Amino acid sequence: MPESIFTTMSGLANEHNAINLSQGFPNFKTSTVLQNLVSKAMLEGHNQYAHMRGDLELRTVIAQKIKTLYQSTYNPENEITITAGATEALFNAITCFIHKNDEVIIFKPAFDSYEPVVKLSGGVPVFIQLHYPNYKVNWQEVASKITSKTKMIILNTPLNPTGTLFEDQDMLALQNLIKNTNIIVLSDEVYEHMTFDGNIHQSACKYPILKAQSFVIASFGKTFHNTGWKIGYCAAPKPLMDEFVKVHEFNVYSINTPYQKAFATFIKDSNNYNYLPTFYQNKRDLFLNGIKDAKFSYIPSKGTYFQLLKYDNITQENDVDFAKRLVIEFKIATIPISVFNVNHLDEKVLRFCFAKTDETIIKATEILCKIQ
Ligand code: PMP
Ligand code: GLN
Repeated sequence: MPESIFTTMSGLANEHNAINLSQGFPNFKTSTVLQNLVSKAMLEGHNQYAHMRGDLELRTVIAQKIKTLYQSTYNPENEITITAGATEALFNAITCFIHKNDEVIIFKPAFDSYEPVVKLSGGVPVFIQLHYPNYKVNWQEVASKITSKTKMIILNTPLNPTGTLFEDQDMLALQNLIKNTNIIVLSDEVYEHMTFDGNIHQSACKYPILKAQSFVIASFGKTFHNTGWKIGYCAAPKPLMDEFVKVHEFNVYSINTPYQKAFATFIKDSNNYNYLPTFYQNKRDLFLNGIKDAKFSYIPSKGTYFQLLKYDNITQENDVDFAKRLVIEFKIATIPISVFNVNHLDEKVLRFCFAKTDETIIKATEILCKIQ
């Protein structure tokens, strides 16, 4: 596998001292209350191995949160596992079920960690290419790709990098497709708290038949502005979770204790995440307002903290070359979408991360307005 685009673009941004809207991470601080809770947990002596599945108090708080948000019940004892970010959860869920020649359906553009793990497990990725600007799924096309070897369907909603959502009818169509099959769904929901304009997140756990066959994956790094802490979790019915923990146990065994203690307290207060849709919608709007006179075209992001901009009014360069030129000439780093597409399909679209301070967003938009 080549180096990931995130490593490349963040590296280039640092080298050229550019504003970095490429890799998806906030440039503002995580909560001081949360940081103090971590220190407190360390000072109180919570510094040895946590339970293999994660701190039970944290698992219980997560189960309550899921119940409140999605009216779905998971048993914290054996249906929730704390992981080293969503990345470890994705790795475990794929490797525990995918074996040689198993087919895995992946919607493109897709986050870049799915395909390598499927291949590492001997599986065969089967791609479905979605298209700018709406990236709508044609469920008949999905049905036509299902074979006797299809073992898993990976979806990501809200969808990185497109900023689109799987809506209620998508989830119902998916549920209908997998009903009465052994197909497992891996539902990557790390941007669950970032949906805009009244759109709501449709978690796989809201649909009973779907839930029974799904791993649902979340990331505290995304939700609580601390991607460097690398903590997330996976929720799944017991028969699936029993397999998942076999990989987790011999992969990392357990996740660091004081951070889990801190999250257990912090997440009890729903005010610590309920503000996120408005908070990020304001950032998206600040960004879009700032570029209203620029030459890019777009439809507003419905979810995630990414906005896509199409640049075919500016140049016909391919998106990777254009993204590199933007860093070097204009000091702004973005992510070219073709790297996530089948055969590097280039629809002349770049991804911009707006999880940034208002000051950074304004500076970035001023630069974007100058690109002619
Ligand atoms: N899934 C998606 C769609 C992502 O954008 C990311 C990037 N953070 C991850 C998973 C990985 O999350 P984490 O940083 O918690 O490992
Ligand atoms: N999820 C982040 C993004 O999409 C980056 C994660 C990573 O660097 N692996 O930008």
